[in-house]
Amino acid sequence: MLTVVTPAYNETRNLPLLYEQLKKVLDDPALGIEWEWIVVDDHSKDGTFELMAGIAAQDPRVRSARFSRNFGSHAAITYGLNHARGDCAVTMAADLQDPPDLIPTLLAEWKKGAHIVWASRSNREGESFSTLLFARLYYDLTSKIEGLKNRPRTGVDFCLLDRCVIDAFAQMHESHVSIISLIAWMGFRQTTVLYNKQARRFGKSHVNFEKKLLLALDTITAFTYAPIRMMSYAGFVIAFLGFCYAAFIILRALVGSPPEGWASLIVTVLVMGGIQMVMMGILGEYLWRTLDEVRSRPRYIIESATDKPGSWSSVNQPVTASAANAPASGQETLT
Ligand code: UDP
Ligand code: MG
Repeated sequence: MLTVVTPAYNETRNLPLLYEQLKKVLDDPALGIEWEWIVVDDHSKDGTFELMAGIAAQDPRVRSARFSRNFGSHAAITYGLNHARGDCAVTMAADLQDPPDLIPTLLAEWKKGAHIVWASRSNREGESFSTLLFARLYYDLTSKIEGLKNRPRTGVDFCLLDRCVIDAFAQMHESHVSIISLIAWMGFRQTTVLYNKQARRFGKSHVNFEKKLLLALDTITAFTYAPIRMMSYAGFVIAFLGFCYAAFIILRALVGSPPEGWASLIVTVLVMGGIQMVMMGILGEYLWRTLDEVRSRPRYIIESATDKPGSWSSVNQPVTASAANAPASGQETLT
């Protein structure tokens, strides 16, 4: 059985088309599988949940839940994976940029023994130059981090995960993390399938530059301490240079011509001040994430769901809006 997980934010125009395409591809007798579709409404303003509830009422394979506020697509995918009943799961955006036609290819790789099958875009249609440049920079920079080397360099938007990966993922309770990077970091047997990423069908992308920057910072702070280590190295180098400069001034004073004026002083103060502030900023990035993780707030809160709360999974019970303030008895019940 295959579970398809779709995060959705204001996608009423795309979801009916995606549903039709999924049925066409997955109901094919040649594929011979059972399937379910979980659509997680990330607090849309356009009636996405009502639309999905209507589809779910007619098709028992379809389920949907609505978040109490916008928690982001990664939280929505996390919810879907935590409630998947399949032997494997495919995550897939609602906007038809991730083509359902590719699912049989992903399944074929899974049947050959892969635990994680990345669908990586060999080409992206309808994207701006700055989007492509930022994506290139992000992947090139973060691919150097140990543990993320398996992730395809051309970028990932969706993937197929085996049950063992879904179960391992359910034990991760971080919120400040790109789930693609987290899954890559887990290891297992990973393979990649290339595809042509289409332009978005209706509406425009919800991922602005600020969200992309936050994701890049999350990936860096979640998987490497290199920036903190670089701060220590920079501190040593600057201290050494300062020591050399001091020696130089003393030497000049001894030979009777000490350097004059405050220009050199103010340059040193400004450069040092700037470097120290950047270093404190880097520490701050790690520190506030630590504080936020220690608070252990749920990664999402459910406002309503098409199934009765608790009936989706015996382990991961959805938190309903009314239960959200109840004392936490453990991470499992919070997610
Ligand atoms: N999405 C979401 N919450 C958000 C933003 C996006 O659930 O706050 C969903 C969106 O509906 C889509 C998927 O995440 O199904 C990918 O989003 P989008 O197409 O905007 O991103 P892009 O393709 O530009 O990376
Ligand atoms: Mg998209």
